[in-house]
Amino acid sequence: MRQIAQITGGASRPSKGWLKPMFPITGKAHYFNQEKEFAAITAQGRAYFWRSICGIDTVSTDKMPMFEPGNWDRCKKCELKLARRAAA
Ligand SMILES: [Zn+2]
Repeated sequence: MRQIAQITGGASRPSKGWLKPMFPITGKAHYFNQEKEFAAITAQGRAYFWRSICGIDTVSTDKMPMFEPGNWDRCKKCELKLARRAAA
C-alpha cells in the first residue's frame, strides 16, 4: 500500500502575501496577513478576514476571493513596511 503525502499545493490559499482584495476597490495590491482566528461561515461561504501591513482590513469569501497581485501596482506603504521588517 502506497503512502500518499498530502502536501498543500495547487489551489492553495496563501495566508499572507501580496494580494488584491475585491474590497475596497482600489487599484493596488497590498501585503496582507490572514487573521485566521476570525474565519467565519457566512451566506457567501467561508469568510476570511485580512489586514494589510499598511492597516487596511478586508474580507474574502469563497465567492469573493482574494486575487493574485498580477500586475496591479503594489502599495508603497506596504512595500516600505515590508522592507523595514526585512531589515529588522
Ligand atoms: Zn498597503
